[in-house]
Amino acid sequence: MKDENKMNSLNYSENEKNFTDKREKLVNILSENGFIKTKEVKRAIGTVPREEFIPEENRAYAYLDRPIRLIEGQTISAPHMVAIICEILQFEEGMNVLEIGTGFGYNAAAVSEMMNKKTHVYTIERIGSLAKIAKENLKKTGYDEVIDIILGDGTLGYETKAPYDRIYGTASAPYISEPLKKQLKVGGKLLMPVGKYPEPQDLILLTKESENKYKEDYLGKVDFVPMIGKYGHDE
Ligand code: SAM
Repeated sequence: MKDENKMNSLNYSENEKNFTDKREKLVNILSENGFIKTKEVKRAIGTVPREEFIPEENRAYAYLDRPIRLIEGQTISAPHMVAIICEILQFEEGMNVLEIGTGFGYNAAAVSEMMNKKTHVYTIERIGSLAKIAKENLKKTGYDEVIDIILGDGTLGYETKAPYDRIYGTASAPYISEPLKKQLKVGGKLLMPVGKYPEPQDLILLTKESENKYKEDYLGKVDFVPMIGKYGHDE
């Protein structure tokens, strides 16, 4: 029995080291390919254990730069996409942040890590079973106290904690909804994949210049699952 325990703990630490090495390699690849540009994003992606946000049977693929199937037809975004979001929005401690599309919680954890785990991230998920697993994942990785998961339709935003310095979607909307625009602070930024599904979408960065004035920048083509909701796609 004792030997068995020893074997288990040995395997566990070997696995951990394996994941740490793989995470380091992925960070290097993302940096070489220009997705990671700043030390803050490098530290966040180099710190959050992506393997803990992936179903057991797919953990071996945790550090490949690709999306991975979760449940209910949803995915965890590819690491380069998380790096792109973090680089564009440059999250900093003290910012009020809203994410739409929690999935299993990885992207929110990376954002929270960028903010030194000191500022709350609000993240909305429409599917209860995903929100439940995300909550467990955030608890076991120590991000649960700074990330609040809200079960609901993210196209409506989250008025309770508005206004936000940063809002971003990890699913693609047909357009950027009025509630989301309203809930953005003047000077704040909103990043959203916009377009028809399943066609590639436009990654749009909206900067709120004054109460009714927005600057819109097109940042390239992306490929996200659909955002489903009142101001989103139909189910
Ligand atoms: N953020 C995740 C990560 O860490 O990789 C990826 C999320 S996955 C690509 C997109 C998520 O958006 C799915 O979990 C989906 O259920 C969710 N979603 C779609 N429409 C939504 C809506 N209207 N409100 C909230 N979540 C929504």
